[in-house]
Amino acid sequence: MIRLAIPTIEEDDCKVVAEVLRTGNLVQGERVAALERSIAEYVGVPHAVAVSNCTAALHLCLLALDIKAGDAVAVTAYSWISTANVIELCGAKPIFIDIEPDTFAMDSSDLERVLARESSIKAILPVHPFGQVADMDAINQQAIVRKIPVIEDAACALGSTYRGQRAGSMGRAGCFSFHPRKAITTGEGGSITTRDEDFANRVRALRNHGMDPTSTTVDFIMPGLNYRLTEFQAALGMTQLAKFDRLLEGRRLRASRYDALLAGTSVQTSARKQDRDSSYQSYVVLLPRHISGLRSQLIISMREVGIEVSIGTYHMPLTTFFSSKYGYLPGHFPVTDDVFARALALPLYEGLSVADQERVTEVLLAWVAHHE
Ligand SMILES: *Cc1c(COP(=O)(O)O)cnc(C)c1O
Repeated sequence: MIRLAIPTIEEDDCKVVAEVLRTGNLVQGERVAALERSIAEYVGVPHAVAVSNCTAALHLCLLALDIKAGDAVAVTAYSWISTANVIELCGAKPIFIDIEPDTFAMDSSDLERVLARESSIKAILPVHPFGQVADMDAINQQAIVRKIPVIEDAACALGSTYRGQRAGSMGRAGCFSFHPRKAITTGEGGSITTRDEDFANRVRALRNHGMDPTSTTVDFIMPGLNYRLTEFQAALGMTQLAKFDRLLEGRRLRASRYDALLAGTSVQTSARKQDRDSSYQSYVVLLPRHISGLRSQLIISMREVGIEVSIGTYHMPLTTFFSSKYGYLPGHFPVTDDVFARALALPLYEGLSVADQERVTEVLLAWVAHHE
């Protein structure tokens, strides 16, 4: 079976987890602090705060901004569902923004229209889908004019760059995931990155029961959650990060191979922009429009011949919860409608061979040709 994704877990990863387990120090200690220093340095910001997953990271960022009932948050329409769920969980309303047809990221001109119309927006939450960085200069420009903070959902974008800057360094804060589907993993895990010391201290308190992170004695300064990472996960994060350059290079190499294998066909390859470089958390193509209705058949027939492919990510406004609560319909987000219908994620992991990639594209292209 050519799988969709396989995390790279090696001997050093297993060894370090066992070592930490034997020490008996299992939560929030020096391993977590070391991982935070490494993530901050890698992303190029002064502060990183490790958390239990990226959903927790997003939730804490909104809580730290005091997003609450009566507020709205502008969020991209096409993402994993937690990007919108955390807004609802703060009691606020997500206002969805359509996406760009090539990057699948928040469309800054749609954002501009919505910001001009809605005065209750207290935060902007763009996503870097599959590792492709959103047009952060255009988004930040509007955010600055209106003094609205930007939180980057960089769950898939560790290592991605935009105009020389790393994802997670361009907003008030960035949120990363270390889920096994992402480029490095700690099982579950995540991190917040920020340049703002006060913001970092607030999310540190919120992550740890509201405990004052700056005090030497135990004191509780706000109601908080327990969204901490364990010591053995942090140790795993360090060994994963140590091989991240190699993993990233492997992803980019395989993405280029897919680009070449699919060039000149009716399957639209992953966007390449001059000013940014994706981490390729996933390699996502668009099927020809007139056969997108057959995508679920394609996914089944590829699985039957041993190739695991899947849809890209979700049209959040059209999920049952958001469509029934806010009345969203097909047509409200035309680009998201189109991309959601046509996207297909291809296998991408370190052990994927040239022959595997040739087989994936051969089977895909034969199926497309047969149904055209
Ligand atoms: C994976 C993902 C998340 C959630 O990350 P978890 O660590 O699983 O909570 C959030 N947003 C996006 C865009 C993701 O891809």
